[in-house]
Amino acid sequence: MKERVFSGMRPTGKLHLGHLAGALTNWVKLQDDYECFYSIVDWHALMSEYADSKQIKANCREVILDWLASGLDPEKCSIFVQSMVPQHAEIHLAFSMVTPLGWLERCPTYKDQIKNIQNKDLGTYAFLGYPVLMAGDILLYKAGRVPVGEDQSAHLELTREIARRFNYFYGPIFPEPETLLTPTPKVPGTDGRKMSKSYGNSLNISEDLKELWEKLRTMKTDPQRERRKDPGNPDVCPVWDIHKVFNPDMEEKVKLDAGCRAAGIGCIECKKALYGHLERLLEPIQRKRRHFEQHEDELNDILRAGAGRAKTVAERTMEEVVAAIGFFR
Ligand code: SF4
Repeated sequence: MKERVFSGMRPTGKLHLGHLAGALTNWVKLQDDYECFYSIVDWHALMSEYADSKQIKANCREVILDWLASGLDPEKCSIFVQSMVPQHAEIHLAFSMVTPLGWLERCPTYKDQIKNIQNKDLGTYAFLGYPVLMAGDILLYKAGRVPVGEDQSAHLELTREIARRFNYFYGPIFPEPETLLTPTPKVPGTDGRKMSKSYGNSLNISEDLKELWEKLRTMKTDPQRERRKDPGNPDVCPVWDIHKVFNPDMEEKVKLDAGCRAAGIGCIECKKALYGHLERLLEPIQRKRRHFEQHEDELNDILRAGAGRAKTVAERTMEEVVAAIGFFR
């Protein structure tokens, strides 16, 4: 029996190189060693997009295309959309009965988001409770492991606390999932800030390759290196951060690093080298993406099969939950 892993992603539309280097590369590796459930969490998207939900379904599709193109294999893992498995909503309700308000009000990401997201009214019942839905997502599958970057491990602690509290009232049903710490390399966007759709600085996995070069060509570099003859410093250059993640050629990197510091190469040369590696990486991914874009039926079959497998596990868990509470069934 393989240990079970659950991970979810909000449908934000086309994914970028930050997603590829962080979540997706890890998830592709995990599918060989664990029984993986990967879900596009559309209910979570509705929590912030409830006033205009039109885009959520299309965004889910973009995410699935990027997942499949990047190597998630529906023969090895279960890929599904959260709302296709109604038990996510049911377990959320059960957990909301036992979760003290104070736990949610103290949640640091809740406070941050309420402060930072000004253009939407997030003062809703559901938004406060989003860690409860997240706990439900994970515990529905009794996942032993949850792949998270170091910055997110606090979230999982709340899931463990909810599991503990439910088990305290109704008996030992849920395991307390462990963090599967996965590397999340730094991938800056074209303006040097963290790559993010909301900053408009992304290099997308499905980016047209000509457009990709144009974005790289004009991307920020070491701000001290204004002219070709100025020596640069790769340690402060966002282009170099992307080299570190996506350029596997150590020998070339040593040469480029020395060339930059001695002003022996220009930034365009350095960016061209990086573009070559990205082109080699993305071409087969984009080819696969185009295949699924043109075969909507295959995509739907994958989702239905994934949701079917997920439902089998989810129904079993909910039967236990309902029996432990003592409801009719
Ligand atoms: S040569 Fe490369 S590492 Fe150096 S500043 Fe230019 S882009 Fe950055």
